[in-house]
Amino acid sequence: MSAIAFIGLGQMGAPMAKNLLKAGHELFVYDVVPKGVEELVACGANAMDSNKAVAQKSDVVITMLPNSPHVKTVILGADGVLEGRHEGMKIIEMSSIAPLATKEVGAACAKAGVPMLESPVSGGEIGAINGTLALMCGGEESLLEEMRPILEVMAGTITYCGALGAGNTTKLVNQHIIAVETAAVAEAFVMGLKAGVEPEVVYNAIRNGYAGSKVLDGKLAMAMDRDFKAGFRLDLHIKDLTNALETGHALGAAMPLASLVMDEMKYMSAIGAGSEDSAAVMRYYERLAGVELTRSKK
Ligand code: NAD
Repeated sequence: MSAIAFIGLGQMGAPMAKNLLKAGHELFVYDVVPKGVEELVACGANAMDSNKAVAQKSDVVITMLPNSPHVKTVILGADGVLEGRHEGMKIIEMSSIAPLATKEVGAACAKAGVPMLESPVSGGEIGAINGTLALMCGGEESLLEEMRPILEVMAGTITYCGALGAGNTTKLVNQHIIAVETAAVAEAFVMGLKAGVEPEVVYNAIRNGYAGSKVLDGKLAMAMDRDFKAGFRLDLHIKDLTNALETGHALGAAMPLASLVMDEMKYMSAIGAGSEDSAAVMRYYERLAGVELTRSKK
């Protein structure tokens, strides 16, 4: 069993860290917000007072933070993980961030003699609680194999995607498709409803055909039940689309669909839906047409 530092005990990090504790690892935890730390200490983790301090105590440092700037601060910044480095320490960076930032942080870690694996996740809070996340790993494949026993505690599937940056690139593809597909489902179902066919009727007719998908199942159900509790927060999805657009633009990939859905999501966030599930973007289409995609009334 390893001594593991877990930094970032939010919606995803807290349940992931609890699973590592349950698996018998010794955990040193830090977050700028006390709530997650208190939760983990109640389960047996050791609280420390900085990112540097948890790193000093651990063989493996796991980070699960909102976005690229947070990861840079935590790993490269003052009182950060690299300041706590020591012989044999390794980093598993599990946040969803810009691939270019992953490469930058990974290069700085390598220069300091600390190997870093990236491993963004998919599967949401439920996947984090159940230890069934889909991991998209980038970095040295030998490091993935070394870290596999730790990763398996949190994962249902582990996919090696390539060099550092490939994991977060894969995650951006995932996030792009979910965003655009959610908007497509809303637009098409609103059109169907305006034409007089209830969402539930259309759904039952098409769900097992070619248009069937997890996005259709999950996001449409939220609209039909009028329950937009996250799930995956709208503001995090805006962050992912921002990273996707920046990556696409930097590399010459045109992304008109992502740009469009991004503006719709930003509008919904501006009117107060940022902490709801990203399915809230469906209400943008409902508003344009003056309908709601509720379940059949009978
Ligand atoms: P979150 O905002 O709930 O948690 C992030 C945590 O990081 C917070 O507790 C915050 O206080 C902490 N943090 C921020 N700056 C810090 C610093 N300088 N030092 C220490 N701690 C710091 O976010 P989340 O939902 O847990 O998501 C984490 C990452 O996983 C994001 O990149 C997100 O896009 C990705 N993700 C989230 C989900 C989901 O369903 N929520 C699913 C898949 C992937």
